[in-house]
Amino acid sequence: MVELSKFTSFFVANWKLNGSFAFINNYLDPLNNEKFIKKCVVLCPPSPYLYYIKDLSKNSFIGSQDCSYFEEGPYTGEISTKILSDLKIDFCIVGHSERRKYFEETNSTIKEKASKLIENEIIPIICVGETLEEKNNNLTNKVIKKQIEECMPKSAKSDNAIIAYEPVWAIGTGLTPTLNEIENSHKYIRQLNNEFIKFNILYGGSVNIKNSKQILEIEDVNGALIGGASLKIEDFIKIISNSS
Ligand code: PEP
Repeated sequence: MVELSKFTSFFVANWKLNGSFAFINNYLDPLNNEKFIKKCVVLCPPSPYLYYIKDLSKNSFIGSQDCSYFEEGPYTGEISTKILSDLKIDFCIVGHSERRKYFEETNSTIKEKASKLIENEIIPIICVGETLEEKNNNLTNKVIKKQIEECMPKSAKSDNAIIAYEPVWAIGTGLTPTLNEIENSHKYIRQLNNEFIKFNILYGGSVNIKNSKQILEIEDVNGALIGGASLKIEDFIKIISNSS
């Protein structure tokens, strides 16, 4: 399992449903020439490319965008944590809001997935965050608390799991919470449970080269989960290298 304590910050590129062999080769050329000290870089491509990238990438870890909560058997189309472990995949995003929205992912299946990942020594990146309607009704903390309570398995500890705070309304929209709002949500998550004081908590939602430095300077933000801006390798490298 990746030793999380070796790193001071985390940069997770969520490519979503994007990529091709040509894209990957163009991406890895500049990325493989970078040296990231104490910065943990994780690339999450569409699953069919996992093994290819694992083989070619020199300074990044590889993560899956999802996994099955079934272990094996007649579950067409699924990818188990055992298979991910066989491929030596180190991280896996679970509970992304796009999976909650389009694929009916629930807190309880997210918890099962996170638990199986930990059993297989893969680090789950567990996503939580409120919708715009919930934010407007002042329900942000309540939603985060419920999602955390229902999604985090007992086995999740600061050395084997990561939390990502991703306000749903900020994902792919170009909108972000204020720095104060991000700080408050991260602080709120930290005080929910004694164990969370030591957790790495990433922020995700429209992080780009313009706003990343300030966001990553917030005390309780330990890194970023990046969608759109991670597809441009020059931007992704700038975001990582501009952060202290
Ligand atoms: C994401 O996919 O988790 C995400 C944060 O996307 P974007 O950076 O495009 O908002």
